[in-house]
Amino acid sequence: MEGRAHLRRGLKYGTRGLSQKGIGDPPSGFASRSARRPCPRQPPRKRSSPIHTTTLNSEAYQSSNPYRAIRGKAAFGNTIDVHTHLYLPGYMDLLRRRAEVPRIIPAPPGSASDAPERLLILPGEDADESTSSGRPIGREYWSVEKKLSFMDVHGIQTSVLSPANPWLDFLPPLDALRVAQDLNDELHAICSSSYPAPPSFPSSAPVPRFLCFGFLPLHPLFQSSQLLPAIVRELERLATPPLSSTMRGVILPAQHLDHPLMDGVYEACQRLGLVLFIHPHYGVGKGSEVNGDYGHVLPLALGFPFETSVAAARLLLSGYLDRYPDLRVLLAHSGGTLPFLAGRLDCCVAHDPAFVWGRGGRKGGKLKHSPSLYLRRNFFFDNVVYHQAGCQCLRALLGEAGKDRVMWGSDHPFFPPVDAAEGEGSRQRPWPSAMKNYEILWGEGTSTDEVKEGAKEEKWREGVLWRNASKLLCIPTATGEREGRE
Ligand SMILES: [Zn+2]
Repeated sequence: MEGRAHLRRGLKYGTRGLSQKGIGDPPSGFASRSARRPCPRQPPRKRSSPIHTTTLNSEAYQSSNPYRAIRGKAAFGNTIDVHTHLYLPGYMDLLRRRAEVPRIIPAPPGSASDAPERLLILPGEDADESTSSGRPIGREYWSVEKKLSFMDVHGIQTSVLSPANPWLDFLPPLDALRVAQDLNDELHAICSSSYPAPPSFPSSAPVPRFLCFGFLPLHPLFQSSQLLPAIVRELERLATPPLSSTMRGVILPAQHLDHPLMDGVYEACQRLGLVLFIHPHYGVGKGSEVNGDYGHVLPLALGFPFETSVAAARLLLSGYLDRYPDLRVLLAHSGGTLPFLAGRLDCCVAHDPAFVWGRGGRKGGKLKHSPSLYLRRNFFFDNVVYHQAGCQCLRALLGEAGKDRVMWGSDHPFFPPVDAAEGEGSRQRPWPSAMKNYEILWGEGTSTDEVKEGAKEEKWREGVLWRNASKLLCIPTATGEREGRE
């Protein structure tokens, strides 16, 4: 494949600078944050009895697993997964060859033959004792067969694959561009191969098992504005045959979405009809001062959704969504904290003279609407929230008119079953994390009758499972329907 040849050529440069001299503009300055005083220490709370003891991996959860109930529904086999990652083989090789973070390290000497490698993503992760061994990374990270197996177990018709952290930030600008182009070719080659659906699926019409969001070297762009024309050309290539048959947009790290250079990216994406999938990258609150020595828990549980929240808020505050009103932006992890905090964002904007609508916001642009209006107009959301309350919060933000903006996601291969004793076998059965995102569509996990009644709306459920993604991403479905783009 020509793309692979390019990839090899690109990767051989490794992390050596490739004509960086002369091409780099200094990144635009961002306001430095002033030091904040810590909140006064609160008196310790009296410990009360636990109110919820069922965890995703407990025996109680497994025995009440809704998988059987879901499997009995007509919808089983129709699901479109809009949030699912694949570490491409070429990308894995690149990370394995690196000596510095981000990198993949082999299992320690003497480990079992199927012991997982370890992925170190974040700067400083190797120096912190609680995170220095990285994340275990097995075949489900890069194997197409494993992805298909996961899809078949979970009733997924189509996975819209996306690359994942650490993307290409660690490469010099021109290397990053070339590697992105080659990885996009590799992604397209995987997605355009034919993979039949299992006989149990309602596959009366041929359906794509894989589509994708492509790579863009955005962080390198902020180091070298001269990359912008090449990035726009790459976006045009993704939106033109043959790549357009599998590419539905691009995944963007949730940082600097209000950067001046993003104007060219947004112009191209709106013009070409490409969807932007915003995904957290480094997390907000780096370092042990914020996250303590609790491993990856706080960076992933809180840092990631906060990062998405801040990035999306900066995007809508920047005025770009007035300049490009047809941009379609898919937010990972149900929009982070934005569904919960949208009202507060509205209130703060309304009371800040710099953002009085119609009088001109930052950079001389006008913010024509309240932030929550942009959230309902330009943004789409996955339902990767693992909790009924988060799902209901999203529904409350969007209201009846926005009910076609939520889509099912698994975040595979992250959060696999943790029963290590069962090894590979445990990964062949339904994953509690993914099943939770099914379960919340049936109103499980709540004791409020009113909410349960709402969650029973078949139309809402169908929309989240497949109809909304089919419409946004132009994906034919097993029933032969094709919702078409908005
Ligand atoms: Zn993800």
